[in-house]
Amino acid sequence: MKEFSFSIPQEIIVGQGSLAKLPEAAKKLGGSHGFIISGPRLNKMGIVKSCADALEGVGIPADAFTETEGNPSVETVEKATKAFQESGADFLIALGGGSPMDVAKAVGVVAKYGGSITEYEGGGKVPGDIIPLIAIPTTAGTGSEVTAFSVITDHSRNYKLTVFSYKLIPSYAILDPELLTTAPASVAAACGIDAMVHALEAYLSKAASPFSDAMAEKALELIGKNIRRYFADRTDLEAAEGMITGSLFAGIAFSWARLGDVHAMSHPVSAFFDVPHGVANAILLPTIVEYNALADNGKYLKIYNYISRTPAFEEEFEPFMLVDLLVELNEQLGIPASLGEVGVTADKFDAMADDAMKSGNIAVNPRSTTKKDILSLYEKAL
Ligand SMILES: [Zn+2]
Repeated sequence: MKEFSFSIPQEIIVGQGSLAKLPEAAKKLGGSHGFIISGPRLNKMGIVKSCADALEGVGIPADAFTETEGNPSVETVEKATKAFQESGADFLIALGGGSPMDVAKAVGVVAKYGGSITEYEGGGKVPGDIIPLIAIPTTAGTGSEVTAFSVITDHSRNYKLTVFSYKLIPSYAILDPELLTTAPASVAAACGIDAMVHALEAYLSKAASPFSDAMAEKALELIGKNIRRYFADRTDLEAAEGMITGSLFAGIAFSWARLGDVHAMSHPVSAFFDVPHGVANAILLPTIVEYNALADNGKYLKIYNYISRTPAFEEEFEPFMLVDLLVELNEQLGIPASLGEVGVTADKFDAMADDAMKSGNIAVNPRSTTKKDILSLYEKAL
């Protein structure tokens, strides 16, 4: 067995009504003035205000920036950083899906160390602890509440840059399934598949360890069991709790095992054509699972049995059965079947493949991948 290491350097609370723990978490951090980073939908629904009110109730004033967009940009990070600095706040609360969390992590870096987030691109460039951050996911999910990554879109070069540092991991994560009940069906589907892809890619990654496998297996089990139910009825709190816990474990798994070709190839799809991250992943998934089948060492059957409603046995199992199952799941969740259906055109494939090859995830994908392979996989998914 290869050497491996792990830590989960944060406090995580999961449970119905756990949002009420926010003031307690803020106090534990030693925060005296909070700054909430969220999006327009949660602001309109009054959830931003209820978080601010809860903090103010214990004498902690709270300001907010609620303009994060899907695939958030370098400019949004600049605007949010300026607002944070002007507010005089000393800790951050990320409330929402992956976008507010990516922005909050980036603000936590730039507000403390200066410059532009583009200067911190890559691994190990964050010099030390960032501004203390409490993450409250409202989708299941990106797992961003426990990951060491912030992904920001640089429109000047149509590129999604990744900042990777264990310093980005939020100090606290509060996972309250009640916050998941208002997600539209399309968001539930895209985010749910994204969480499943995190678990699946971390599980198949060449950097997987017994620790990340344990996290990925439980994530696949929880997501496989609950994704259809949660999509069908987002007010089903048991299903919502299964999804948010699965998404959490998947996030921990890929923070240590990284991902694979699906994520390497989906970032350019989002950067060039503004396709939501989860949708891009979901469309690419069956094509890449088929490509990786040659490298399968027995994990495909396990994945199949976590996701399928009827188990398969070793004697009858073939890797294409997992591919078919994932195509069927996309259909059930209303995910478009091809890149063409979401407006992707082949004229950008060359530039997209160059960007995909820059991803660190290519190196840990179970099957070796060249630019030529990426091009034919994009063609196939088109
Ligand atoms: Zn993802």
